[in-house]
Amino acid sequence: MKKQIAIIGLEMHCELKSNSKVFSPACNNYAEVPNSNIAPLDMAFPGTLPTVNKKSVADALKMSIALNCEQPDYLIFDRKNYYYPDLPKGYQITQMASPIGIKGKIEIEVNDKLVPVYIHDIHLEEDSASLDHYFDTSTIDYNRSGVPLLELVTEPCLHSAEEAVAFLEYMRDVYKYCDVSEADTKKGQIRCDVNVSIMDEDATTLGTRVEIKNVNSFKGVYDTINYEIKRQTELKEAGRYNEVEQETRRWDEESMTTIHMRSKVDAIDYKYFVEPNIPKFKITPEWLESLKKEIPRLHLERKYDYINNYGLSSYDAGVLVKEKAISDYFEECLKIGIDAKTACNWITTQILGYLNKENKTINEFNFTPNKLKELTDLIKNNTISSKQAKDIFNEVVINNKEIKDFINNDNAQVNDRDALIQIIDEIINNSPNQVEAYQNGKTNLFDYFVGQVMKNTKGKANPVLTKEILNEKLGK
Ligand code: ADP
Ligand code: MG
Repeated sequence: MKKQIAIIGLEMHCELKSNSKVFSPACNNYAEVPNSNIAPLDMAFPGTLPTVNKKSVADALKMSIALNCEQPDYLIFDRKNYYYPDLPKGYQITQMASPIGIKGKIEIEVNDKLVPVYIHDIHLEEDSASLDHYFDTSTIDYNRSGVPLLELVTEPCLHSAEEAVAFLEYMRDVYKYCDVSEADTKKGQIRCDVNVSIMDEDATTLGTRVEIKNVNSFKGVYDTINYEIKRQTELKEAGRYNEVEQETRRWDEESMTTIHMRSKVDAIDYKYFVEPNIPKFKITPEWLESLKKEIPRLHLERKYDYINNYGLSSYDAGVLVKEKAISDYFEECLKIGIDAKTACNWITTQILGYLNKENKTINEFNFTPNKLKELTDLIKNNTISSKQAKDIFNEVVINNKEIKDFINNDNAQVNDRDALIQIIDEIINNSPNQVEAYQNGKTNLFDYFVGQVMKNTKGKANPVLTKEILNEKLGK
């Protein structure tokens, strides 16, 4: 059999942040109590009419711009007609003929290489209600009904589970950077349909695709794709490729397999038509221009900036841009004159270490970039050692102390050369055996001497100066 390549297309759904729902005034917020965030429209009461949430449209347009899509001249919604208990109106308001974005293209990073991803379209629609199934009953919760949902459809242009997950992670970060969604898979805010086919390496037409619906985690997407590629390849190897039919399957977490749901010949005809209760609405170039200005510099651009212009490693730059608030903090540090590597070291070790341990975000953090500047300046001008700086950092962060409280004669760093020489002479005189061993080649004893100096000065000796004097005295 010829070498096979996999073709993957994704449909990614993401719930948008907003105060009210996309077509009703009900609150759009996760609620523990079922049917507490609802308005009559969400349950399709007769006589209710939709009003479009302008913020959701603006957020959808922002994403359309961020994905380099073309935007339509008019905002137009369509009705997608089907019946299901979680869809009380009997239709979903979505966009079919004139989506909010088409023909987009972005680049994502996969294993340190840039890979292009083509966007077929991105459109705004309403989420359905949710059903919970019990032993002999099912319940319905309308809280989710009408939550603004952005659906992004890629071209069949991805080639592996790694690429697909890298794309989803990239998009999750874009949603978060633009602050249009929390994009939290654990809260069900991101859900994917995954389309997979295989074909001969040199084939010119695509193979038969299988659609796997509603995969709710990135790990699920990864496993689904690898399972499906393997299943289809094995059938093809066995000469049974005709058994790969165009069908909808679902991912079963327990058995780690995909399971047949329905065949595409049973596909529903949705009888789309323009939603008559929402007048079309002009999307002006001025509006688009002002939305464009609200899109922040995205993470990959920032990452390459940090690598190319500030000399950071790809790994460190990646850690800094993972969250916009952290990256903003880092950029604020640069702006006030902290050296990039110094800022990066403090953020990736001390600051993130503390935040992760305390499960806090950087917005709930009292150690501002200005304080970091104050502290790192004190190290730079030798007032304190970096060890002392770390202790002071902890005192400020945990006990809400002021940096200046720690800068007094008691704990200022010992920078006095003569004082250090005196201490070091004494240590050398008291350690003849160690000196002899050191000079006979046991060079790791150097740390012993440094340790003695630190012990003697309660950790306050200037480490650079200490090493310099020790080298002079002991002979290199
Ligand atoms: P549907 O309405 O049935 O979901 P679409 O034409 O909208 O069908 O396609 C949905 C997704 O399927 C898109 O993401 C697209 O990239 C993907 N797709 C289409 N053909 C293939 C194929 N041969 N292999 C893999 N994915 C495909
Ligand atoms: Mg589909």
